Amino acid sequence: MIPRAVSALDRPLFVAHASDDVEGQLFLTQVFHLPGSAWRPVFYPVEGPQAPHANSILKYISEAVGLVVLLSPALAKQPWTRSWVSFEVGAAAQRNLPILVVEPLSGFVDFPVPGVTHYARRPAKATALGETFWAKVARTNFHPVEDEPLEPGEGFWDKAGAFFYNLGLKTRSVDGSFTRFRCSNSSCLASYFVEDSLLHSTFQCPSCRHETATPMIELQNDLMKLANEAAKARQSRE
Ligand SMILES: [Zn+2]
Repeated sequence: MIPRAVSALDRPLFVAHASDDVEGQLFLTQVFHLPGSAWRPVFYPVEGPQAPHANSILKYISEAVGLVVLLSPALAKQPWTRSWVSFEVGAAAQRNLPILVVEPLSGFVDFPVPGVTHYARRPAKATALGETFWAKVARTNFHPVEDEPLEPGEGFWDKAGAFFYNLGLKTRSVDGSFTRFRCSNSSCLASYFVEDSLLHSTFQCPSCRHETATPMIELQNDLMKLANEAAKARQSRE
């Protein structure tokens, strides 16, 4: 069977995944069936796979407007699946498509995705989805949007206020619910958008899988460590 043609109005998101990951597939299907969803998830095994699969998959990815990587323990475990998912990510990156990595909240999946453009975590079930973060993902797009700078006024305080406001300007995506982030590990430095709630603490970078955080969180952690060390030193003296 030849992969079916996709019309310009249809916005297919190719889903790189392990076919054993039933929970993840159900979750995405429910998200992208929410009223107003702008996307149609494409699961290759469901579309009628046709050997040679590399050619068929490249055709699907050439028609897709984005790629979702559905991380799961099954994906990380199976060498065959790891190879195909890497192939799909590479093909999407070559086309400059948005690559959304979705990891289960239930646990870390040891599978780095170089080329990631968006990273979020998902709950086990999507059954209770209403007006939530995931509804935004379903309805909006992945384009970057810069915060508008504030024009400074005439007085000193107006100028100072605008200066500090503009220092905090960010680039956002998905209706403002993802913020541009750069991995702090010097051997990685990958830049991508992260679901805002993850930026309040350390998390595992989806590109290198090492711990990372915003400069502010890293500073807080360092200060906390110093305070703990000082408290321990004082206790040992007493
Ligand atoms: Zn990294």
